[in-house]
Amino acid sequence: MQSKAKILLIYTGGTIGMMKDFETGALKAFNFSKLLQRIPELKQLDCEIETISFENPMDSSNMNPENWVKIAEIIEENYIFFDGFVVLHGSDTMSYSASALSFMLENLNKPVIFTGSQLPIGDLRTDAKENLITAIQIASLQQKNKPVIHEVGLYFEYKLYRGNRTTKINAEHFNAFTSPNYPELAESGVHLKVNNHLLLPKMGLKKLKVNKDLDNNVVIVKMFPGINEAVLSAIFNIPNLKGVVLETYGSGNAPTEEWFISLLKKAIKNGLHIINVTQCSGGSVSMGQYETSTLLKKIGIISGKDITTEAAITKLMYLLGQKVAPNVFKTIFETSIRGELS
Ligand code: ASP
Repeated sequence: MQSKAKILLIYTGGTIGMMKDFETGALKAFNFSKLLQRIPELKQLDCEIETISFENPMDSSNMNPENWVKIAEIIEENYIFFDGFVVLHGSDTMSYSASALSFMLENLNKPVIFTGSQLPIGDLRTDAKENLITAIQIASLQQKNKPVIHEVGLYFEYKLYRGNRTTKINAEHFNAFTSPNYPELAESGVHLKVNNHLLLPKMGLKKLKVNKDLDNNVVIVKMFPGINEAVLSAIFNIPNLKGVVLETYGSGNAPTEEWFISLLKKAIKNGLHIINVTQCSGGSVSMGQYETSTLLKKIGIISGKDITTEAAITKLMYLLGQKVAPNVFKTIFETSIRGELS
């Protein structure tokens, strides 16, 4: 007989639980237990739900690696007692957090589903209820008493995505996220349709390992025509900087000017890890396809392939935190470890 799934709801903050401040009219995070009273529908779900809240729920613009560790520790401490986890989180940095957690939670064998909403749960036209209820249903999916999903997902507006493949694309539409380079894992219509062949496989009997060391001596640099040597040189010479996610053009192209290439070359020689990701919303870096990326390949720039910037920067923090040896760093970065690149 199938037993009822046990789900832990982790509230970190975000619009979903916000209310208008009477004085300023601005939205701010609100008490979680009051929030739950507004969703009597939760009682009708065919699972047991327990909740835990950040002491100070936050707008996700205040999210940072320390808070990722807090989320990871809540999951770690409760891992054996629950079948799945739903993380309520602001949408602004949700893709970063989902990506970070995907790397931090090694050998994950249960679903961790991030969700939130564009309108507060108390709003008449809210998108929060559908997002929350379906995220819980997805986290509860079981086959032969085992979870169907074994990875960090992000559920928003009828679609479940692999968390580390997502990016926020709209601050207005309910459909706020996209996964430009990987299809959705599940879709909610009249039926909940799971694309089983796209899910990460079960991790076998390996024990969950929570990696909490993240090194944030990293930066994202977006190329633009006219970027000058003084600006780039100042960034690349930041004391203790260990990694750069370089957002280049198209399929990973950048200027061929002497000063630019020699700046990168020197930085790599000094031990900096530079990841080439595209600033296009879809597609992949393919160094060597154009003359404007051939030199980048030659000097040892790491290819981010079709990774998102969010996954690239968090993977960088994670691998630096793991103290991955310089001679294998490039190979490991270019290899998919949680389905984050193709
Ligand atoms: N500013 C909010 C946040 O990210 C937006 C949201 O929740 O959708 O916390």
